[in-house]
Amino acid sequence: MSIIATGLAVFALYSQAQTGYRARLMSKPQAKPWISAIHAYVPGKSKSASGKPLTKLSANENPLGASPAALAALSQGHNPADYPDPDARTLREAIAAVHGLDADRIVCGTGSGELLHCAVQALASVGDEVLASRYSFSLYPLLAQKVGATAVFADDDGCAASVDKLLAAVTPATRVVLLDNPNNPVGSYLPPDEVERLHAGLPGNVLLIVDEAYGEYVDPAHQHAAFDLAAACENVLVSRTFSKAYGLASERVGWVTGAPHLIDLVNRLRGAFNVSVSGQKAALAALGDQAFVAASREHNTAERARLADAIAALGNHGLSTSPSEANFLLVHFAGEVTATQAVEALSEAGYAVRHLPSQGLPNALRITIGKTDDMTRVIATLRTLCGEAA
Ligand SMILES: *Cc1c(COP(=O)(O)O)cnc(C)c1O
Repeated sequence: MSIIATGLAVFALYSQAQTGYRARLMSKPQAKPWISAIHAYVPGKSKSASGKPLTKLSANENPLGASPAALAALSQGHNPADYPDPDARTLREAIAAVHGLDADRIVCGTGSGELLHCAVQALASVGDEVLASRYSFSLYPLLAQKVGATAVFADDDGCAASVDKLLAAVTPATRVVLLDNPNNPVGSYLPPDEVERLHAGLPGNVLLIVDEAYGEYVDPAHQHAAFDLAAACENVLVSRTFSKAYGLASERVGWVTGAPHLIDLVNRLRGAFNVSVSGQKAALAALGDQAFVAASREHNTAERARLADAIAALGNHGLSTSPSEANFLLVHFAGEVTATQAVEALSEAGYAVRHLPSQGLPNALRITIGKTDDMTRVIATLRTLCGEAA
């Protein structure tokens, strides 16, 4: 009897547990609504619709590759069992020496992207606003959405950022203003006095992030201005990356500089060993080869001008470009030839470019400045598409 009763009791407990287990199987963890609303970052394409590999002119990578010094450092090898220096001290000191900065006011990150996330996370959350210009880096809305804040976009001025319109869009809820300078995807550039005017018009509690991912491509005479602002002010961070002019996108190394309290915030939020041993080594070696950076800038300036001239010559077919200080050109299509047709023709010719309808630019393509031969072929393809002799 008691054996039967015990058996029944055990069975009852067992089936109860089964029911609970099944109920738990049917439900699942529920994301925060602002996380569910995120569309993950879409990287530049490297394949055609049919899967054919293409030469990438879609991710603003350096067509000259990386400095031989960086390649040599990468080939040295290291013990993969050891963690990297968590503070990237040697690298920070080298960055400080090259740019005349204080190493204690620098944090390195897994690309500059990690540090942008940290800065926004430190200052903004639900109910707050993160402000950028209408056509800005496609990562920016994600930075706001990840923390439940609202991404707000100020109207542009002929696609470029407008200081007046950005200032007019500041509200009591604004916590961070993101300015990519030069801008991506337009390539537009606010000179130092305009960035200073933007900063001067912001309340002191609003952080201005000047994202200089393409900073090495601008006139060297202007390259230190944002650093001076960050050194003098309590609410400015400047970010740089090794992904573009240094040609080290695969190593994922970036950095920010700013006031000590801002550096402290980013340090609390960044990953503990966020820059790999190879990333630290390659970036350190690359910094020592400023001739490579200068050569990258010169190649870019010359080829960007050649592409811009070739597109201006197709103006009667509705093609034009936005002025660019970056390593790409935004090409507009306002005539019989459409951006979609150009994507297809360039893909047919072996090139991936960036079509950005999701960023409100259905009639424009962002074309990275590539190797000289590739640019010659891109120009010929666009000319043929317009019915002109290649
Ligand atoms: C490419 C790019 C970056 C660089 O990102 P990393 O994470 O450093 O590779 C940052 N900002 C803008 C505007 C960019 O275009």
